[in-house]
Amino acid sequence: MQDHITPRRVVILGGGFAGLFAARALRRSPVAVTVVDRRAHHLFQPLLYQCASGILSEGQIAQPLRDVLRRHHNVRCVLAEATDVDVEARLVQLRRPDGRAMELPYDDLIVGVGMRQSYFGHDEFAAHAPGMKTLNDALEIRRRIYQAFEMAETAAGARERRQWLTFALVGGGPTGVELAGQIREIAVHTLEREFRTIDSADARVLLFEGSDDVLGAFGRPLAERAARTLRGLGVELHLGTRVTDIDAHGLTVRHKDGAVTRYEARTVLWTAGVEAPPVATALARATGATQDRAGRIAVEPDLTLPGHPEIRVTGDVMSLNKLPGLAEVAMQSGAYAGRAVRHAVEGRTRKPKPFKYVDLGSAAYISRGRAVLKTGPLHLSGFLGWLAWLFIHVAFLTGFRSRLGAVLSWSVAFATNARRERAFAVPDAPAPAEPAPEQKAPSPSA
Ligand SMILES: Cc1cc2nc3c(=O)[nH]c(=O)nc-3n(C[C@H](O)[C@H](O)[C@H](O)COP(=O)(O)OP(=O)(O)OC[C@H]3O[C@@H](n4cnc5c(N)ncnc54)[C@H](O)[C@@H]3O)c2cc1C
Repeated sequence: MQDHITPRRVVILGGGFAGLFAARALRRSPVAVTVVDRRAHHLFQPLLYQCASGILSEGQIAQPLRDVLRRHHNVRCVLAEATDVDVEARLVQLRRPDGRAMELPYDDLIVGVGMRQSYFGHDEFAAHAPGMKTLNDALEIRRRIYQAFEMAETAAGARERRQWLTFALVGGGPTGVELAGQIREIAVHTLEREFRTIDSADARVLLFEGSDDVLGAFGRPLAERAARTLRGLGVELHLGTRVTDIDAHGLTVRHKDGAVTRYEARTVLWTAGVEAPPVATALARATGATQDRAGRIAVEPDLTLPGHPEIRVTGDVMSLNKLPGLAEVAMQSGAYAGRAVRHAVEGRTRKPKPFKYVDLGSAAYISRGRAVLKTGPLHLSGFLGWLAWLFIHVAFLTGFRSRLGAVLSWSVAFATNARRERAFAVPDAPAPAEPAPEQKAPSPSA
């Protein structure tokens, strides 16, 4: 319980956009803030695909949380994973990376743990098809993309070469579209004339999407323009398809008419779904809060949990009026939660106004000089869309050094097609050899 000597203890779970904006809103308050994250960095997820494709470095999209918050003298950072919440005792249970358990008391709890990749009950797909939510994912995807071209160069035969030069992406949202465009650009421009046996431009990029549109959330006209741009880049769109199986050599999909096709591809990337992390379920169980199908926690209009005015849920993991999982929603809800705590500390007794999201629109990058942007009635595509995309991403990238570095890297990539961040680590121990495709049971393939 709080006394008059100990400052009010605010624990923020997650140092993503929501957590960071909550901490910033509390900067000048007489409270003791603890930001807990299982990673030591704040990650700018919207640019993960640029790290995966070798334009930006890890340091340009991920900044140490301590560095970001160094001038917030009332904030300390703790590297640990939140595993559970004891709402009676007001304690968060934590696990440090070395496995040691810790407890952290709170007077106010702000939850902003985001969402993680979901394989819709097929977790076995993850080994063959990494998702893209973390820095590790982006570096793993970078390795798989560039290594695939290396493997194709020394492939044992035409069939194996074709498999290595086929890239399959599952999910036609912004991340799938961005990655598809990037891989074709790498194949056609970045790697041009670097290989001796293969022509990198022969690389096929297949994009599988369950609905009838890519970028469906942007509305029909922009979705159609995006599809045209992707086809122009050489991306093969497979709309209205559901992936039913993935293995080390490819994937199987079911079409709307029930037909089943097997596609051979050594690189499969998954961008199709999200689910709440386990701590969200633990919190819901402890408080009796309800969760939607993906595990997001339903909140009151002031972002608190029913019967728990001391707990606020923000960002991607909050469920309120079907708000989308966007950085801007996370920033605004995080800042709102931080302000609500500040107002309570200041003794304001008036009930806070409900959280109201101000929609600033959304944007998706397709390829060099081409993006789509939707903000209110304004719909932009092509070069204008790209300029707007550039402006937004530079403005929101955390830290001056990251911004400057990103602008320099984009200028080099735009002017020369060069990608300066292509290095990838190969595990020292040799991986067990895959059976040659010719030895596998024959299957109908595309
Ligand atoms: C590839 C990609 C591209 C995107 N592109 C765009 C875009 O162009 N525009 C846009 O508006 N949005 C985009 N988004 C969505 C946007 O990034 C999210 O909406 C935003 O990051 C959500 O912020 P958040 O703070 O809720 O969660 P996150 O940013 O995911 O942060 C959650 C934090 O919580 C930490 N965490 C998780 N579990 C625990 C735990 N148990 N204990 C401690 N810490 C924990 C995580 O390490 C992470 O740091 C994109 C997302 C991805 C993945």
